[in-house]
Amino acid sequence: MAVLPILKWPDPRLSQGCAPVAHEPLDALIADLFETMYAAQGRGLAAPQVGVLKRVFVMDCGWKDGDPTPLAMINPTIMAAERVPVLADEGCLSLPGIVVAVERHKAVTVQWTAPEGDIHMADFDECEARCIQHEFDHLNGMVTLERIAPDLRARLERAYLEGPRA
Ligand code: ZN
Repeated sequence: MAVLPILKWPDPRLSQGCAPVAHEPLDALIADLFETMYAAQGRGLAAPQVGVLKRVFVMDCGWKDGDPTPLAMINPTIMAAERVPVLADEGCLSLPGIVVAVERHKAVTVQWTAPEGDIHMADFDECEARCIQHEFDHLNGMVTLERIAPDLRARLERAYLEGPRA
């Protein structure tokens, strides 16, 4: 296992859609994603954030509260959503220093392949629903800045690109 460098926006790899994963060994990638996410104090990390353009992400909404719920999703699909908009602050390990209110669906039903190869389907709400939608965006080459009003985005982008970056 290794802690990998996390790409920082506007690295062009963060703006590319990722390819579905075929049958291939992913254990090492997933272990590295978890280790990198925990080392960076994050709750979610998508493969493109470490430069791997595959539809894979890891998340753990509970670990900071002492209740770890690690979850790795391969080829996730959002099958249904409770389309009640919920606005809450989101950070991103690829956008250091930017915390912005993003509107997400209240709950989502997701189908994904687990690392062992089984296909799962489950409903998620609260932190996990938000995290899944955030990481899912990464698989489609989107960051939080693309989910906010254009004038706010322009202001934040300017400050981010001019400011010191971690
Ligand atoms: Zn992110």
